[in-house]
Amino acid sequence: MATPAINGSSIPATEACPAEIREILHAAASGEELTFEQGLILAAAEGSALEALVVFADQLRRETVGHAITYVVNRNINFTNVCFVGCSFCGFGRGPGAADAYSLSFGEVVRRAREAWERGATEVCVQGGLPRDLDGFFYRDLLRAIKRAIPEMHVHAFSPMEIDYGVTKTGMPLRDYLRMMKDEGLGSIPGTAAEILDDRVRKELSPNKLPAARWVEIITAAHELGIPTTSTMMYGHVEQPADWVRHILLLRSIQKRTGGFTEFVPLGFIHENTRLYRHGGARPGAKREEHLRVHALARVLLHGAIKNLQVSWVKLGFETSLACLQAGANDFSGTLMEENISKAAGATFGEYVSPEEFRAKIRSIGRVPAERTTTYKIRRVFDNPEHHPPTAPPQLPMVRADSNVTYTEGAY
Ligand code: SF4
Repeated sequence: MATPAINGSSIPATEACPAEIREILHAAASGEELTFEQGLILAAAEGSALEALVVFADQLRRETVGHAITYVVNRNINFTNVCFVGCSFCGFGRGPGAADAYSLSFGEVVRRAREAWERGATEVCVQGGLPRDLDGFFYRDLLRAIKRAIPEMHVHAFSPMEIDYGVTKTGMPLRDYLRMMKDEGLGSIPGTAAEILDDRVRKELSPNKLPAARWVEIITAAHELGIPTTSTMMYGHVEQPADWVRHILLLRSIQKRTGGFTEFVPLGFIHENTRLYRHGGARPGAKREEHLRVHALARVLLHGAIKNLQVSWVKLGFETSLACLQAGANDFSGTLMEENISKAAGATFGEYVSPEEFRAKIRSIGRVPAERTTTYKIRRVFDNPEHHPPTAPPQLPMVRADSNVTYTEGAY
């Protein structure tokens, strides 16, 4: 895949910007694929260098995907918080005996999916903890239950960690397992469980999690079988800027082979309720400048490979999200309707944003809102505010996960 050159006049004319940064941005503008060393220099950008990087990334975004900021109307369904994996950055997973351990029945998951469909959602994002007693075909059966009830709903489900667990539990070869899930209607896979794709860092974050090479193997196999995935990176904890660059370049190399990533989503670490922060020496998440740096860096390094760069409003909050949407990002992610994982780790940015609120926020920075499908087909462009007043009250009430039932051993 050739890296498209962009208009050379788009290099920001920041006089104070160090020559070294200007040279790298010129190289990127002329279509050169940036190296690890060049990425590392951008990853350290501060002051006027960071300003130039942000302006350039925003220009790249405009030339690559235009003026719209997209979002998807979706609902998160986290079917259980019971998990044996024990990631140190996770505030969500619980032991099976915890007072607040919960599990949802198939009927409840389907009810939530149907409720979302009736309120305009086109996607459910389904992920959960990993209980030890999970039935081998649990993921297939849950997917089947949703698709039978609402055939047109896009099911974006089961992280590579869950796919790996399903493979282990069933004893099926990976490709057969993925083929079975695709045949049952799996629309796409969240590229979560990536954290930082380096086993040295992963050992600190979660020694029980699948190794980086297995994550790559599962994602690559999914792409080759025609199942798209997202890609993610968690930053702001124990990692170094060199880890960001290595991680992003690895994703770029996968995308050049498969073309299967729909987007890249940088995920800022939420530290409050995590062991990694309390005992593991992690930083307390990223500050605003670091968020901008990571998003702008990703736009520049992934140019010519992954077109869509998403902000996670649940982790960043709206103010920082809007700043990142002016630093290379072009997608606001989903309305969610409920969100448990970041909230459990201490995030306070809410569980649900209505499409009307999304549109108002997008317009507040002079951009055009557009609703998309999971795979970035545009459903509707809201280019005339008079037809869609930005002040319309939210149509959808907050949907709280208050019908969770206490987990009992053997529930799955
Ligand atoms: S991040 Fe996922 S796999 Fe890790 S402990 Fe939390 S729920 Fe379990």
